[in-house]
Amino acid sequence: MKPILGLDVDGVVCDFISGIIETAKELGYGGTFPPNWLATHSWMFSPDFHTVFNLIAHEPEWWRRLKPYADAEIPREYPYVYFVTQRPVEQDATRAWLNDHFPRVSFAIYNADDKVEALKKLGVEYFVEDRVENWDAINRAGITCFLMDRPWNREVLTASRLKSLRHLSRLIDELEEKKGMVLSA
Ligand SMILES: [Mg+2]
Repeated sequence: MKPILGLDVDGVVCDFISGIIETAKELGYGGTFPPNWLATHSWMFSPDFHTVFNLIAHEPEWWRRLKPYADAEIPREYPYVYFVTQRPVEQDATRAWLNDHFPRVSFAIYNADDKVEALKKLGVEYFVEDRVENWDAINRAGITCFLMDRPWNREVLTASRLKSLRHLSRLIDELEEKKGMVLSA
């Protein structure tokens, strides 16, 4: 049986950053935002971030229009996934977006301020996260968490960096195999 897999949404499968940069430009805040997501070298990249974020935070239609990343593929080996996110918007917006882009995947969504607590409760064994603070806390709690490779987390040197979701299934298999070897030794 496959282990229980969880994924973060924004920064992992959903290109939230491009969305907020575009909206900032439309609202006249473009000057303090990076020109695009590839030029975003830290998470809190603009003094106007919260001003723009607060305008869209509870707008389902805004979240629904976001684009998935080009490599946002949920591994076929995991037909059921827990999405755990800190989004402020109601879950229906996230559910509709996931159904739009991943119609084959069955999932549950959890909006959680404290991802560690949520993941523990759900029994998630492997998680993918792009935000360094969360990734660190989840690993320290004993849940194997990969750091999704994004421009805003590249300062961290770690073997658990995930270059693409396309590699995820193979990496989990390798870790599970190692676990099996330790248990049988
Ligand atoms: Mg994220």
